[in-house]
Amino acid sequence: MAGTGTDDRILDIWVRVSTRLHSEIGEAAFQSWLKPMIVHEVADGQVRLSVPTRFMRDWIVAHYVDRLAELWTEEDGGSHTIDIVVQPDRALASKKPVVSAPAPAEAPSAPSASEKSTCMGRGPVRSTGSVSGDISAPLDPRCNFDDFVVGKPNEFAYAASRRVAEATAEGRRAPFNPLFLYGGVGLGKTHLMHAIAWHIRQQAADRNVIYLSAEKFMYRFIRALREQNTVDFKERFRSVDVLMIDDVQFISGKESTQEEFFHTFNALVDQGRQIVISADKSPSDLEGMEERLISRLNCGLVADIHATTYELRLGILQSKAEHMGVEVPSPVLEFLAHKVTANVRELEGGLTRVVAHAELVGRPITIETTQEVLHDLLRANDRRVTIEEIQKRVATHFNIRMSDMSSARRARSVARPRQVAMYLAKQLTARSLPEIGRKFGGRDHTTVMHAVRKVEELREHDHSFNEDVDLLRRMLET
Ligand code: ADP
Ligand code: MG
Repeated sequence: MAGTGTDDRILDIWVRVSTRLHSEIGEAAFQSWLKPMIVHEVADGQVRLSVPTRFMRDWIVAHYVDRLAELWTEEDGGSHTIDIVVQPDRALASKKPVVSAPAPAEAPSAPSASEKSTCMGRGPVRSTGSVSGDISAPLDPRCNFDDFVVGKPNEFAYAASRRVAEATAEGRRAPFNPLFLYGGVGLGKTHLMHAIAWHIRQQAADRNVIYLSAEKFMYRFIRALREQNTVDFKERFRSVDVLMIDDVQFISGKESTQEEFFHTFNALVDQGRQIVISADKSPSDLEGMEERLISRLNCGLVADIHATTYELRLGILQSKAEHMGVEVPSPVLEFLAHKVTANVRELEGGLTRVVAHAELVGRPITIETTQEVLHDLLRANDRRVTIEEIQKRVATHFNIRMSDMSSARRARSVARPRQVAMYLAKQLTARSLPEIGRKFGGRDHTTVMHAVRKVEELREHDHSFNEDVDLLRRMLET
């Protein structure tokens, strides 16, 4: 490799180049675009950098590549060109020593190139530190409390998470243990858990914080079983100050893992260690969870994150646009907040696409271009109906009262429409059986299952009933 220096020398140049660029373009742009970059090699005047996505590469090529080449040439002498490659999973892809862009000064630990993004599927990540670094998953630096927009749907979960973080950092016990966070996908559970970990890392770096997905937890446990060192496995968890397990719905139904989880969990709670758990459902709705585990989970504080409201969505969009360092007209933000209602992840993704498109084609952001760029996303969001809408439509159609959807009345004239509504809720929404049951006056999930079967059966044998249901379905879908 003619013209290649040692890795130390490359690192040194990379630090100087990225520090200079950082000061030129500002914090937000640096965080979004430059920090995820990793330098791989410098050979024959060509600097090879990698980024995790094509989108990032296109953006960097459009905005920063010339300046990068200039800076590199100034710092290294000679003449340099920049080559940017896309490597989605760089931890696995690269066997060479690689160096990622240096973190800003306040960063709690040095970035390592062998870590993968988690929270938002983008950007660089760092391990939670030396004590737990070998077991804890990396944290996304953007998932902190400051970047979390608080509104009605998430204020309780936010306050509870903050309380846990602050208490632990100050060496006190939080007034509740465990903290159980639940809510639909993309509503900020992982964000809050990362934020707890960051807060503790920054305020009290010696605390041992472990953040793991439930899947990872399971995987490690099964591996320990196979390697016959479960004692070691338990020891690692038992020395933590805070154990956070994300998405525990993935543990349900796996008996030996649940068992282990339960024991680890009990031991930790008994020792006064803090536990934080997340799931997509409440403890009682977790299908296949053991009773004693559920009751233990219920003992602490259960905080749910509700579906977003228009105000929260707008607040999040404003904050994200500001972070990206771009000016997005208010009507466009309002339009997005109205239209992309499913979850924050989609909202964020939509905004990024709109901004990127505008930059790449060099046209201003308008509602028209937004509609064009996001037509698939907007269509998908339009099609989503709520259980309430289904109930209302079905009640009107069969001429019963809306309140009968959740009443205990069993007369066929109300029971049948109710079953149809349950059936349509199962077909047209992503809600689970227990969730649907709850919306129908707190009925059990087996009742919903029965309704679904009954309607299916009737549709096969009763032609006019079948047409009724089809009609309702079409009305709800358009
Ligand atoms: P979950 O774990 O509940 O599926 P995440 O925590 O991964 O959801 O959130 C999805 C995305 O939305 C992340 O990029 C996260 O940073 C962002 N997000 C969610 N809620 C908020 C919020 N209130 N403020 C800012 N960003 C948010
Ligand atoms: Mg998550």
